[in-house]
Amino acid sequence: MAGTDRGDLTRTAILALLGTVGPLSRSEMARELDLSPATVTQLTKELIGHGMLEELDLKPSRGGRPAQRLGLVGSAGRALGVKVTADHLVLVDVRLDGEVLGSWELPHDPAAPGALDHLADAVESVVQEISGVPPLLGVGVGVPGSVDDQAVGTVNAPTLGWQAMPVGERLRRRLNLPVLVENDVNALAAAERLYGRGRTHRDFLVVTIGRGVGAAIVADGRVYRGARGGAGEFGHLPVDPEGPPCGCGARGCLEAFVGSAGLLAAARTKTTAEGLAALGRAAAGGDGGAREVFAEAGAILGRATAGLINVVDPEFVVVLGEGTADWPLWRIGFEPALRAQLYPGRRDISVEVESWDDTSWAQGAAALVLATPFDAAGAAGEQGRLVRARLIGAAP
Ligand SMILES: [Zn+2]
Repeated sequence: MAGTDRGDLTRTAILALLGTVGPLSRSEMARELDLSPATVTQLTKELIGHGMLEELDLKPSRGGRPAQRLGLVGSAGRALGVKVTADHLVLVDVRLDGEVLGSWELPHDPAAPGALDHLADAVESVVQEISGVPPLLGVGVGVPGSVDDQAVGTVNAPTLGWQAMPVGERLRRRLNLPVLVENDVNALAAAERLYGRGRTHRDFLVVTIGRGVGAAIVADGRVYRGARGGAGEFGHLPVDPEGPPCGCGARGCLEAFVGSAGLLAAARTKTTAEGLAALGRAAAGGDGGAREVFAEAGAILGRATAGLINVVDPEFVVVLGEGTADWPLWRIGFEPALRAQLYPGRRDISVEVESWDDTSWAQGAAALVLATPFDAAGAAGEQGRLVRARLIGAAP
């Protein structure tokens, strides 16, 4: 039994390595994982047999024989990602290599009685629709709130009206599938680790702007969750005690100034543009008042982000979220405010804005599941073990 466990762990380590750094030759794997070439040959043969790895191109090597590289098979599995918002659900069906196979947007009222049953009905209907090949490894759920533990999935989310909601337990019982539940920004960070610049970096920040403001802290290769899964509530960083009231009950939080509602409130005194889309169009068209709204929000966000960078010392920052559509307008205030406030030696840190669409949040949720085969440290717990078992067991 111990031998089997050890073999499983080594197989997971091979998948984790290829999942995070991309295709490698067998000798590179042996070196990276400190395994004997014979062990790597044996285990990769099994993984190829299970349909999880494939032989790719030959990598030219100086002097010796060209080395055959091995990569993950994108069609070895897939996951359903679910993003829960205050008024709808977005679901995406994503392959192991990140390719999106389908997406759905469904109405949902999280505050209604029976909301959890409605959520389970919606997810179940899509699960039935997509059953087949590649095998569904599990369901990832992203929520705008704190989650006790990915693998337990009890949610506290004031913006949804949820207190101690047993989301993970209810969905698992209904679907009979592994279910991982996580804060939505932390889920984006998991996707960044799996598919983005985070593949090759162990310390970075994800900052999101949009309806709310959030952050995920990736430290030493793992999302920092805090004592109760509530780390990264960047939107509730205090900015001004005299500021506008915030949804959390306090006053003058970052989100109260630069979240969508904060932007619209600031716009009322500066421009006639109504609604976020109109505000963005007015600013892009040269409306001075509208431009000021974004520049001031950018400056507030820039100062706050500098504070977070000074505390956490990341290698870089990724900005995501629906608010990034107007980033060129934010940037005017953001850049100078950020650089002025950064600790010496960090002033050249890179801040990158990545492409964003309506399914990005849900893709992050799917990454919770798709990352678990590569989760050698076991952060996803029992549900992660079940995902790995499905990956190995479901293959032909
Ligand atoms: Zn707040």
